[in-house]
Formats: sequence, structure tokens, C-alpha cells
Amino acid sequence: MDFKTVRDVDVRGRRVFVRADLNVPLDDGRITDDTRIRASLPTLVHLLERGATVILASHLGRPKGKVNDALRLKPVADRLSQLLGRPVRMTGDALGPGVQVAIDKLRAGDLLLLENLRFHADEEANSPEFAAALARLADLYVNDAFGAAHRAHASTEGITHHLPAVAGLLMEREVEALSRLLKKPSRPFHAVIGGAKVSGKLEVLGVLLSRCQAVLVGGGMANTFLAARGLEMGKSLVEADQLLNAERMVTEARRRRVRLMLPTDVVVAPQIHHRAKTQVVAVNAVPKDQMIVDIGPDTRAAYAAHLVKARTILWNGPMGVFEIAQFAEGTNQMARVVAARTAAGTVTIVGGGDSVAAVEGLGLADRMTHVSTGGGASLEYIEGKTLPGVAALLPVDAEIVFAEDDA
Ligand code: ADP
Ligand code: MG
Repeated sequence: MDFKTVRDVDVRGRRVFVRADLNVPLDDGRITDDTRIRASLPTLVHLLERGATVILASHLGRPKGKVNDALRLKPVADRLSQLLGRPVRMTGDALGPGVQVAIDKLRAGDLLLLENLRFHADEEANSPEFAAALARLADLYVNDAFGAAHRAHASTEGITHHLPAVAGLLMEREVEALSRLLKKPSRPFHAVIGGAKVSGKLEVLGVLLSRCQAVLVGGGMANTFLAARGLEMGKSLVEADQLLNAERMVTEARRRRVRLMLPTDVVVAPQIHHRAKTQVVAVNAVPKDQMIVDIGPDTRAAYAAHLVKARTILWNGPMGVFEIAQFAEGTNQMARVVAARTAAGTVTIVGGGDSVAAVEGLGLADRMTHVSTGGGASLEYIEGKTLPGVAALLPVDAEIVFAEDDA
């Protein structure tokens, strides 16, 4: 990688500020998926075992700069102490007099979790004073929050102006997996792309057309492609303002000789409801009063057959409204197909919050080469954008200078 990581620093006796992405889904105060907490463990264990004092920080949800009791990190602290097998203490605020007192009590090998950073509007505003104050808590900064790296916030970017900044192990793994995908994927490289809308994934589609040998389209976004071809989509989700863009993508694929595959059959239902009556129809026979909710069995089989040839697969976006069990078969089958390709030696990468949730839900996450924890961040990385949190890390050839060594 082009940046320094925790493995390049002697952290013994150092106070280390770790920015992790512990933004887990909560249901009434209960964590429904602890993937992000578990993904943060390797870096924490690495630092603690080497005698660092860890000051851990994260955001949770969107409190918009105000204290919100429903978005306190207490459930995260509890889960983290279970996973680490030791009590995890917390502060009542991310910053303030109590924080320094708590930090002064810490010893080498201790960990302290700061309260939700986004209770302070200064965090997302990347206020220089707030960033400097966070920096004063520690000697070294570690960014392990790949999922927040596309944002220039105080704890992801501002703080790096004051402390030597290195990557955590998760950050390293995420960037490594995605950069390999873009730089030297084993070919054929096939992308499966789905989800709700074309509009949110136009740039990614463009990049994929320039790198892949085939792009398999499913989910709601396929409807816009089919509509652009003049097909009747009934009540399906179609983005009227994206028809031209869809046409452009089709032309671009043809010009580059990339196989752009669209569904040939679909599952339709009169409404999005778990007891709605479904039927399978050809894409040119979608009834006016029905909407497309999943790819059909012929499409699933054709996509699966095509993926057998791939040496690299990137999957982003579910194939249907997978939140409803009876519309989830296309997505579930895709997860099983991609997992089977991994077993056959294909490099498989799953990115995107919802597609990852689907894979996790099926218990197939550890059967993929890499499952990205960074939804929006992984898309932006693939689009070729610079992620501020990654750009702010020390380059490999930089020297690590601690403030007091400098004095
Ligand atoms: P990801 O988070 O994996 O990148 P997106 O956020 O782009 O995926 O899209 C996920 C959403 O797309 C899901 O909520 C799913 O219900 C929705 N979706 C998929 N297929 C359809 C469809 N045919 N009609 C409406 N919504 C769909
Ligand atoms: Mg999503």
C-alpha cells in the first residue's frame, strides 16, 4: 500500500487515537448486526497486545450535532467488551474535561471508548479547533474507519494535521482488496450490479464498463435499462430522467465490446408486501398493474452460467427487494453463486450496504474473498475518487515523528 499502517510504528507506551467505524444497525437499543465491531477487533488487539493505550472513537447514526440518547455508544461498548473479553470503559462525551481525566487514569494496554463523535456538530464540519482538541488526547492517530473515509470530518481528516496518521488493519485490507480489483484484476472480470437506482450508480457503471468484460444488471436499476429499450414496465420503479443515461451505457458497452446483460424474465407483484401474489413474466410482458420485485429464474440461471467464466467478480446491489423474503430469491441465489465461485478460485468482492447485509444474513460472508464494510466509501473508491481519510494517511516513505521527539 502507499500509506503507513499500525505495523510500521512502535506503539509501546503510546496513546493511540483509533477512529473506527462502529456505526452498527440498532433496533430499540439492540445491535442487529455486529459485523463492524468485529471487523475493528484486529487493529485493537494488535495495539493493545503491543502495550499501546487505545482511545477509541466512532460515530453512530445521524445525531446531527446534538446529544441523542438513542445513539449513545453504550451498546457498542458492551458488545466490544464481550468480544475483547474485558470491560470497556466509556466517556460521557467525545470531548470535554471528563475525557482528559479518564485518559489520565489509563495504563498501557487499556482501552477507552469515547461517546459518539457526531454529538458535536464540529465533527462533520471538520472544525479545526475540534480536530486539534481530539489530537491533544493522543500521540498517534490510526484510521481504521474505511466506511467513513469518503468524508473529510474532524476525526477522519482534520486530526491528521496534528498527529502522525497511519492506517489500521481493516483500512489496509479494504483499500488493498479494492485497489487490486481496479489495478490488476484476474480476467475475465465480471461485475454484478443491482440496487434501487441507476442515478446513484452511474459513475460506478461507467468505471465498470471500462474495466470489466461483462456487467450483469439486476434490481430496480435494470427496469430503467429495460424501459429505455421501450419495454412497458407497469408500476415498476423507473427513473424517467435516467433513460438517456441508460441508453448511453448500452452504447458505451457495445463500443467497448463489454457484455451488458439485462434480465429476460422477472418476478412481479401488485405491490411491495410480504403476502403479495407474485408471478414470473418475460420482460416484454410486465402487466400494467404490476411491479418488478426480483429477477426471474431464467435470468438467475443465465447470470450464474455466465459467472462461471469469471476469474474476478464484483457484486454491488441486490437483485430485487430482498428485504421481503418472497422477493429475495434472486439476491439469495446470487449470493450462493458468488460464494460457489469463491470456492472455485475466483476472486469475489461484495460491496454496498444492502448487498453486504444480504450476504451476511445468509451466513455467506466468510465465503467471499472480501466483503467491504464501507458502503458509500467502497463505491467512491471504485469510481476513482480520492477518499480524504485515505489521502490524509502518511505515505509509506514518510518518517513517523512524535510531538515530544520533535521538541
Ligand atoms: P447497496 O446498498 O447494496 O449498494 P442499493 O442501496 O443501491 O444497494 O439498493 C438497495 C435497495 O434496492 C434495497 O432496499 C432493495 O429493496 C432495492 N431494490 C432492489 N430491487 C428493486 C426493485 N426491483 N424495485 C424497487 N427497489 C428495489
Ligand atoms: Mg444501500
